[in-house]
Amino acid sequence: MESEEVGVKAPRDYRRGRRVARRPDDRGSASVRRMTEPGHTEAHLAPGGGDDGRVGVYVHLPWCERVCPYCDFAVLAARPLDPGVEDRYVEDLRTELAARAPAFGDRPLASLYLGGGTPALFRPESIARLVDAVTATFPADASAPEITLELNPSTVERERLPAFRAAGVNRLSIGIQSFDDGLLKRLGRAHRAVVAEETLAAARRAGFDDLSVDLIFAGPDQSAADLDRDLDRVIAFGPEHVSTYELTFESETPFGRAVSAGRMTPPDEELAAGMIEQVEARLEGAGYRRYEVSSYARPGRRARHNARYWQRQAVLGLGMGAHSTEVRTPARPHGARRANPRDLSAWQAALARDPAEAGEEEGLEVAVARGEAIFLGLRQIEGVAAQAFAEEFGAPPRAFFAEEIDRLVRVEWLVEGEGGDLRLSRAGRLLADSVGAEFVFVEGG
Ligand code: SF4
Repeated sequence: MESEEVGVKAPRDYRRGRRVARRPDDRGSASVRRMTEPGHTEAHLAPGGGDDGRVGVYVHLPWCERVCPYCDFAVLAARPLDPGVEDRYVEDLRTELAARAPAFGDRPLASLYLGGGTPALFRPESIARLVDAVTATFPADASAPEITLELNPSTVERERLPAFRAAGVNRLSIGIQSFDDGLLKRLGRAHRAVVAEETLAAARRAGFDDLSVDLIFAGPDQSAADLDRDLDRVIAFGPEHVSTYELTFESETPFGRAVSAGRMTPPDEELAAGMIEQVEARLEGAGYRRYEVSSYARPGRRARHNARYWQRQAVLGLGMGAHSTEVRTPARPHGARRANPRDLSAWQAALARDPAEAGEEEGLEVAVARGEAIFLGLRQIEGVAAQAFAEEFGAPPRAFFAEEIDRLVRVEWLVEGEGGDLRLSRAGRLLADSVGAEFVFVEGG
């Protein structure tokens, strides 16, 4: 599911980890407009830069009923998911958790995110075993952890909702994408609008009062009027959180290959850019606040788990393809990231060798960490707080990025406050990844 998969997927430019040679005149490029990837309270959100002393856990459950033609996540097709395969995977996750948890000490659990893939294909007893293992490993503190499960609209998943709630899940991220059957079909999605509506209603009946809905836009042959109808349905239902995504055509996907071969045409860029503003106007008009380039929330309902990535807080990622943000230490003051193998057998083989070292770790050099702090900070509407930045890096952003800041302020994509705080302008939000990429460090660049 593309919903809030920050544990698996970071913005493409960011993943390359280099300063991308794009300049503000790249506005027309399709990739630069790409917007990627969340509670009961914002009280635990650090202002940026500092370690909040807690831990988030991301668990990747990679199977989907079928693989959507635009998906480039670490996913596997399951028709259906074999119980033996499921049980082995859950055991492997518990093994990895036990081996890697000591590196995160006895930090209180801020959030647990069960993402995929389609995690709700797992039996409720499997989800309960995972929730129990994680909550038994890390202590609770005054605030109950946010425990999110990704779900796609389907009859099987809908029937499991009460059991997921009983397993301790307190938040759902539902891959609705659209209420337009024609668009769902063109996107290769398995569900139809009526099932989406039934799943949303069933989630409320099961007692979930914290729901996030995914909405895709700039889909094949989608008009602004089509998107308006989707927004009408979302607003009428009234989830606590909405994640919105512009469809992208990644080269290694069937959609990407179809574009390369001239068999498919991506939506008009002006139309797609207009849709970003259309989504913002409609959702903000309905009482949601856009707090991150892709994310909208009702007051007090920002997603705590995703915020951990944007704010570079500790996250333990478990499972094939999962990413971790390791704890900062005196030896690694800016932390490290770890990427698990994207291939199931490679991850399982690595686990068998050493469950504490299944992924590849990369310590963050100061120049890389500075770029990430800006890139990720700019994704949040509040932007980058110069003081918090200076506490970690010794000086405010301008001391390191004067040229980039001046250039981006000049074209009115970036706003610099009097104290040196940085945030995207309205126009800059249409190009969030591209603007942020201006700050990302390139080795030898
Ligand atoms: S539901 Fe589709 S888009 Fe989402 S993870 Fe599965 S294959 Fe990818």
